Amino acid sequence: MLGCNVVVGISVFDAYRSVCSVLGRLCPRLVPSPLWGYSLSSLARLSPVLAEVMCEDCGGVVGELLGYWKSIPRGGACSVCGALGARDVDEEWVYVVYEGGKPLPRLPDMRDPMSRARYSGEAILLGVRLLCGKCHLSKHQGYARVTGKGREALEHLARVNDVSVGEAERLVKKAFEVWRELSKIDSWKIRVCELPGLREDLRRRTEKFLNEMFGLGYSIFRGWFWYMSKDNVVNVEKMAISETIALLESLSPAENIIKALVNEVGSRLKENNVHVLERELSYALNLQMEDVNKILKAISSPEEHAFTLLAISRLFVGKWMVFAKEEHLNTIIPEIVEKLREERLDYELKTPASRRRGDLYPVMVYVPSYLATSLVSRVGGIVKMVAEELGLRKPIYFKPDVFTEKSIYSGKSTIKPYIYLLK
Ligand SMILES: [Zn+2]
Repeated sequence: MLGCNVVVGISVFDAYRSVCSVLGRLCPRLVPSPLWGYSLSSLARLSPVLAEVMCEDCGGVVGELLGYWKSIPRGGACSVCGALGARDVDEEWVYVVYEGGKPLPRLPDMRDPMSRARYSGEAILLGVRLLCGKCHLSKHQGYARVTGKGREALEHLARVNDVSVGEAERLVKKAFEVWRELSKIDSWKIRVCELPGLREDLRRRTEKFLNEMFGLGYSIFRGWFWYMSKDNVVNVEKMAISETIALLESLSPAENIIKALVNEVGSRLKENNVHVLERELSYALNLQMEDVNKILKAISSPEEHAFTLLAISRLFVGKWMVFAKEEHLNTIIPEIVEKLREERLDYELKTPASRRRGDLYPVMVYVPSYLATSLVSRVGGIVKMVAEELGLRKPIYFKPDVFTEKSIYSGKSTIKPYIYLLK
């Protein structure tokens, strides 16, 4: 592993070299998607109890890391353009691709999914530096685009690197191509280099923490602490799809579809002691009537079958919700994950990442389809069992994502924000 010996932009092993050898002063190295959620800034703000999900000592690491993060001087000159009053701390991550332990000077061809397993990656935090808002935005071209500031970010990037806007545009396009390739790599090692003001023992513990978090499938993304299964996503989605299709196929065409679905789901879940709120379930299905019809149509035409599978794998996503005190998070989350893993049912789970003093944390355990009744009850059963072991005896609730999209929250409308209940 090259680790901290990589030299930004110049090293032949820097995966973004073709872009960064030209955009040397400020380079938009896009973070490969498997590495979203691993940064010092998000780690520093993580609730210490959630950190303990990874290791006993990890709570202490985030506390010390927050101290370090706050100690970085702000308000001085931007390290790229020199603008005064710069307040953003930028983490300079570099990526290297390996095959059989050897760094590769150029990106391999990873079109064949089977051959991808041969490659691994190393994400190296080389430094932190102060940036002004404009430079920071220009570094994150992906974010700039989705927030409608793509042009502004591109022009600034061209200016600070002294290239034409056309040239910057071409290189940013190239950066996105590199990003797409890097995102195909599943296996990553994370390296934290020496940083000014960061004690050596804290540097080492932080690096270990990040690697453990990555290995276990946890991450911190957009304010949430996530678990995402590394092995069973496809398995769980397949189960959800086949169950959903079987349910829809069992309906006779003459019936009122929503009424028939509510009855059928109700009777199937009742067998497993899951209570169905009929009014809320019909409301959710009404909101998704177009989706239901799309699938019914696709089921009847075999040539569209592949489309069906793709379309419904996430159409009817929902989550079981249990409300836990902060001090319970380091038990309830790993317990739920472990019990689900034993049955190969682990999928996605999330809870707010930062400290919410005194508030309860909603722990949300996802199921890809709320119409996959046996999956819904099996996952719910496990969540309920773990909650009870911790003395949490309140009912747990199942909320479909369509309610979240339509802003249906508790107390906001006459419709309750959940469709199933497990007492
Ligand atoms: Zn600047």
